[in-house]
Amino acid sequence: MLEEFREYVRKWIRANTPEELKEKGSTIPFSGRYVDNLDELKRWHRKVYEAGLLGISWPKEYGGYGDDPIKELIAYEEFMKAKVPYGNPTAGIGMSIVGPSLIIAGSEDQKRKYVKRILTGEDIWCQGFSEPQAGSDLASIQTRAEDKGEYFEITGQKIWSSYAHLADYMILLARTGKPEDRHKGLTMFIVDMRSQGITVKPIRQITGKSEFNMVYFNNLKVPKENVIGKVNEGWKIATLVLNNERVNLSIPFILAAENALRNVLSNFKEKQKELELSILNLYATKLLYNRMLELYGKRKSPPGIEAAILKIISSEVLQEFYEFGVNNLDKETLIFEEPLSEASEFSLGLIASRAATIGGGSSEVLRNLIGESILKLPR
Ligand SMILES: Cc1cc2nc3c(=O)[nH]c(=O)nc-3n(C[C@H](O)[C@H](O)[C@H](O)COP(=O)(O)OP(=O)(O)OC[C@H]3O[C@@H](n4cnc5c(N)ncnc54)[C@H](O)[C@@H]3O)c2cc1C
Repeated sequence: MLEEFREYVRKWIRANTPEELKEKGSTIPFSGRYVDNLDELKRWHRKVYEAGLLGISWPKEYGGYGDDPIKELIAYEEFMKAKVPYGNPTAGIGMSIVGPSLIIAGSEDQKRKYVKRILTGEDIWCQGFSEPQAGSDLASIQTRAEDKGEYFEITGQKIWSSYAHLADYMILLARTGKPEDRHKGLTMFIVDMRSQGITVKPIRQITGKSEFNMVYFNNLKVPKENVIGKVNEGWKIATLVLNNERVNLSIPFILAAENALRNVLSNFKEKQKELELSILNLYATKLLYNRMLELYGKRKSPPGIEAAILKIISSEVLQEFYEFGVNNLDKETLIFEEPLSEASEFSLGLIASRAATIGGGSSEVLRNLIGESILKLPR
């Protein structure tokens, strides 16, 4: 049954992918390799959705297909193998963190207004959490939201906001209480990126692309119905968002690691022994991910601390395969130019995957979390 579905996805991709989108899929996470023509990407996104291949496990009442989450993983795998875009970047953040979090914590109006449009690719979302002085220590953010009676007025700055330059909406964490209240004085908002009072400035990355941005808010007015959950209870939503983010970042990491492993084995079959531990870790992570999917069922219960375990191992394994390739290949073959050769996938992967152990919570900080909440080590 699942194998039939896999075959259906393969055939569908072969029959429907337009020539200009072939090889454009982001097989290397954070590499910034997506098509420059956003309209074309959005049309493609809609087509994939209408074929029933996006939002497979999301609830039917909010535009999903209410089906088996394992099928979602199978579809993602097949799109990655075929190097064809699968909801990225049109719905990267919307699908990985905003949709799953709104389904659990959003009001009925918010779910009806926003969730389906993420799946259809009509709305692009970004995430406004990190600030120049608050990354790992998220509870120290300073962007302020003041209650002005009819609306909140927001002033401050965010950094590393992926896709903010393309986004229609941002999920934004801001301070509504006193700084000393730390995580107890935060509120989560939905911000319309077309509002007055927002300036977006791209940041250039090591890959030469600009996928993330600085975002400035100057007396931005946000309607009260755009609060997600309750005022001063944004930390609960932030935790939900971050756990969803960690799980959903891990999927492309695992699939990209599998791609990199295939490349490694086709070049260095004789050196497989040196990679034994990384290969074991990769498959253990995939089993853990499959098990988590089964446990969460149809996204009715949110992921917890195990998301941190998945993210640490998948991101570190990914880096190990790229590093192995770069260390073993002839250096002259490693220069990356489009279209990417197998060898240059390793070098681009190596630099792009530096981000994998930082974004969504650094490995060090996630290890602290596991130490505190699972192993009960002292803080
Ligand atoms: C590709 C990419 C995309 C991103 N996209 C977004 C986005 O869309 N929206 C958004 O809000 N943010 C985004 N981020 C930001 C990301 O969440 C932060 O970079 C991350 O949380 C780390 O924060 P920081 O960069 O401020 O580093 P810092 O918190 O300053 O950490 C610096 C170093 O110190 C270590 N460290 C910090 N605290 C501890 C501790 N207590 N114990 C041990 N070590 C510690 C860290 O591990 C790290 O190595 C993105 C980041 C990347 C790389």
